[in-house]
Amino acid sequence: MSVPASAEGSVLRAAQGGTVVALAELSPPGGLLLVMPHPDDETLGCGQALAAAADAGRDIGLVLVTDGEASHPSCDRGELVAVRRAELAAALAVLSPGRTIPVHRLALPDGTSRRGDLSGEGWEALLAFANTLDPRAIWTTSPIDPHCDHAAAHAIARDLAEHFRAALWSAPVWGRFGERPLPEGELRLFEAPALAERKFRALAAYRSQFTDLIADPEAFLMPEALLAHFAAHPEIFHCG
Ligand SMILES: [Zn+2]
Repeated sequence: MSVPASAEGSVLRAAQGGTVVALAELSPPGGLLLVMPHPDDETLGCGQALAAAADAGRDIGLVLVTDGEASHPSCDRGELVAVRRAELAAALAVLSPGRTIPVHRLALPDGTSRRGDLSGEGWEALLAFANTLDPRAIWTTSPIDPHCDHAAAHAIARDLAEHFRAALWSAPVWGRFGERPLPEGELRLFEAPALAERKFRALAAYRSQFTDLIADPEAFLMPEALLAHFAAHPEIFHCG
């Protein structure tokens, strides 16, 4: 995936007319399961909403589809996975202070994952994890995100939503940028100014992704303009 240079495109234009979505609609009382392709997508796409759900006492769990081990190709994979897991834990601790959000790793291959990579055994283990939450809502990345891991996360989340008869909400991350067809579901906006500072601090936990913490000429680095966009723009959700 080529990284966009600026925060503009068809989805952001359409989102300007989007109606507000309240937490009670995004995540009714009970379990909330997030299915995210990489460590950081939960904060980029829905950090404020996640903080709001934690504050409201929702029972939250996170399914991590890949460990994000492809972001620095020259780096030792084991070390990089450890760094990214620690960053995720730090970000979740900021968003959900005082209550640990359990994480279930699928460990599908970062950068090439497909729904079909999840084995029958992997699906059963995922169901066992999700069962502990009995999710009423599932949040994931959007099928309009032009990234195979984001598509895999969405496909797994859709199957879970069907299994649990839970509401499925998608939050575009990379799909926010560029000219692309809009998703079928209406674009809805979530914003909680009181939680903006917590989202900002959670983003700051991802030093390997947004700074030159790890020297690697082929590293993924989030452009500053996009990071500023994610920190300031209302979060975008659509059904399905
Ligand atoms: Zn991602």
